[in-house]
Amino acid sequence: MAKTKNKQFGQLAPKYNYSLNPYPNLKFSKCPICESKAGQRKLPLLIHVDPMHLISLNYTNRYCSNCDLLIGHKHEIEHHLTQAFSQLMPQDVGNNYLIMGTVEKTAWRAGLKQSSSFDETIQNLHDFKNFEELRMTMAGWFHKDRDPPVMTPPLSTEWKK
Ligand SMILES: [Zn+2]
Repeated sequence: MAKTKNKQFGQLAPKYNYSLNPYPNLKFSKCPICESKAGQRKLPLLIHVDPMHLISLNYTNRYCSNCDLLIGHKHEIEHHLTQAFSQLMPQDVGNNYLIMGTVEKTAWRAGLKQSSSFDETIQNLHDFKNFEELRMTMAGWFHKDRDPPVMTPPLSTEWKK
């Protein structure tokens, strides 16, 4: 399960709006807000996994420069988490996690050589300006007084207990 965040951890200025896409079939070649063509931006994401793990994942996000919006695919991120955890900490696969923000690349590279503490890590962290998990409404014909129903995202196939 991905949690919603509500307090700031990073010591650097918040950066990027973030949308997590839980639908494996949607690729978002276009921005869901302004519909211009989305590019890509590879950035180290800092992810907190319960109970006490911090993981930096260098991940290629979709990016719309108009909206300053990064889009991550939940199933891809969970695939990387599953790979990282299934060897070393299989008991924590499927735990709640929180995508906290992006880490400065220089600090991320240094962290590959030498592990850093939580306090050191958040000194190089940009929280997101806004974080949300996307929900799509169903296409089709619906009664005029009814909002279209929301498509239920599929359950995680890999990152689960
Ligand atoms: Zn856009």
